[in-house]
Amino acid sequence: MSYMAQRVAGFGTTIFTEMTALANQHQAINLGQGFPDFAAPDFIKKAAVAAIEADVNQYAPANGRPALRQAIAQKTGTFYGIEANPDTEITILHGATEAIFATILGLVNPGDEVIVFEPFYDSYVPAIQMAGGIPRFYTLRPPEWQIDAAELATLFNANTKLIIINTPHNPTGKRFTQAELGQIAQLCQQHDVLAMTDEVYEHLVFDGKQHHTLANLPGMAERTVMISSLGKTFSVTGWKVGWTIAPPEITKAIFRAHQFMTFCGAAPLQEAAVTAVSQPTSFYTELTDFYARKRDFLLDALNSAGLTPIVPSGTYFVMVDISHLGFANDVAFCRYLTTEVGVAAIPPSAFYHNPADGAGLARFAFCKEEKTLAEAAKRLQRLKTG
Ligand code: PMP
Ligand code: GLN
Repeated sequence: MSYMAQRVAGFGTTIFTEMTALANQHQAINLGQGFPDFAAPDFIKKAAVAAIEADVNQYAPANGRPALRQAIAQKTGTFYGIEANPDTEITILHGATEAIFATILGLVNPGDEVIVFEPFYDSYVPAIQMAGGIPRFYTLRPPEWQIDAAELATLFNANTKLIIINTPHNPTGKRFTQAELGQIAQLCQQHDVLAMTDEVYEHLVFDGKQHHTLANLPGMAERTVMISSLGKTFSVTGWKVGWTIAPPEITKAIFRAHQFMTFCGAAPLQEAAVTAVSQPTSFYTELTDFYARKRDFLLDALNSAGLTPIVPSGTYFVMVDISHLGFANDVAFCRYLTTEVGVAAIPPSAFYHNPADGAGLARFAFCKEEKTLAEAAKRLQRLKTG
């Protein structure tokens, strides 16, 4: 008899863990799991060391250190013109992952429906299921990944509690347009549905385009939970400092779940995060340029290896159409690529409720050093002779 609870028995090992293990085993260049292989900025490392040395080493308040909530309120005002009250509307959690989980546990009742765009970030569906909710899927189709408002409307009904929007979107690199967000906002208000926006890639938008946030649309601030974190913007995915911004009633619900999950995140890292989120706007411009160069390099490498990348507007991922290459599916392709070509990518079928919908795609990450990307480019050439 298995001791495992039913609520987790259906979950496999995450695709990120699986592909990183396979990459390590075969000394493949890991363009799979999205984590930078370069150093985090000095200012953030120094701030963390200073916080530990200054003995910021005991529990933080459960809703996060006040200076960080204040700094996040300031930054959100600067970038989006949103005024968030640091005491009643901002909660610091252990990364966006805990923010997602606490939001869902705090808001979703058993039997409630939650609308999810697929391909989806892999923690959404398990979080919904652990809350007893029911995921309803809207499938984004390549290469445009556009939303059809009429099709989306069919997913809304009296049981719908929440819709999850991830923009810029992992794994497609899609940036939701203002028009698409407008359609979502209208449906949310019409059906009294809450929204959770996962904006961890908010500062990775290319080609002079702008990131739009749903909470900024009329009538949406009062029904939206905005989520972001430090990991992507400051190249510290291992720090796990994330936050929610939501109206006071919703913040209370998130807080109640959070206080019994972790109580609080790591205090010295929250202190260092104040330095991070207080960076001048030039930091973000440089970050976008830095990643745009990496994106273009990887796009060239993929094209020159005979692959068909779909140009991403944001994030640090590129989806590639592999449907014409003759592999059984994305898993077979990614395994071949890792073990035979020496470059690891993620098979996106893990991000669809019907894996066949992702079978013709592969996801590559470009949050890697120049020399890592150059070596991957060289190895990818083997695809032409293989
Ligand atoms: N959402 C998305 C779309 C992500 O790509 C990630 C990064 N893994 C997360 C949430 C989780 O962020 P964090 O590392 O801050 O928990
Ligand atoms: N967000 C990262 C990705 O999509 C990794 C997340 C993880 O390892 N859980 O690749």
